[in-house]
Amino acid sequence: MTIHKKIFISDWEKILENNIPIYNFLPSSLQSKLKDLILIFLDDKRFFGCDGLEITDEIRITISAQACLLIINRKGKTYPLLSSILIYPDSINKKVERIENQFVVTDMRRSWLGDSNARKGQIRISWKHAQLGALNWKDGQNLVLHEFAHQLDQEDSCADGVPILNCLNPQHAYMTWNKIITDEYKRLQSAVENNMVTVIDEYGATDLAEFFAVATEVFFEKPIPMKLNHSKLYKILSDFYGLDPAEWSYFSQ
Ligand SMILES: [Zn+2]
Repeated sequence: MTIHKKIFISDWEKILENNIPIYNFLPSSLQSKLKDLILIFLDDKRFFGCDGLEITDEIRITISAQACLLIINRKGKTYPLLSSILIYPDSINKKVERIENQFVVTDMRRSWLGDSNARKGQIRISWKHAQLGALNWKDGQNLVLHEFAHQLDQEDSCADGVPILNCLNPQHAYMTWNKIITDEYKRLQSAVENNMVTVIDEYGATDLAEFFAVATEVFFEKPIPMKLNHSKLYKILSDFYGLDPAEWSYFSQ
């Protein structure tokens, strides 16, 4: 079965219902918009299986749906710099060579769950963790949202936590964005240093690019605590994504 069809078949809808529980609670207008966007996305991007993984419709639909939900209300092309999505069965491992007693020794040393490189037009994702992230949509952790948020941030060739802001008064918007994101980033760093419990995962304190990606995960998965505790940050993300997830019925059940 080829996925390059212009209609969203019922088998794919079942994948959305089973693999991405929040889909069942989205307003119906967003559900149909999401399905339309997935078709466009699948037409435009290529999936590659790595480390022996065979790409299936389940993989394509599950990853695309989360990537498309992120930009469902944003204008413009779907991830214009992205062409390839590389899917690994589990963590991505990099062989690292080192010299030991004059011999080259190869270790499986570095491993990570995904990354985004807009310059290469590429995103890499662990399928195992992409599934887990979609199934548990209330823990504030979502690998696919995280990596695709990086891709948005990288569209201006600069991974600095400031994506391209399409709005009527961009200068004002950039100043506001910079101020809020920097203040919130410093607030998180200080909270982490003081071992405080935070709504935004401490990994966001790494740098501003990670802060934007982690804040995006929280915006979509813990919108109510974020709106309560980080109202300005929630507002700029809500304006950027054109969404207000705190109002979705999924989070009030
Ligand atoms: Zn990251």
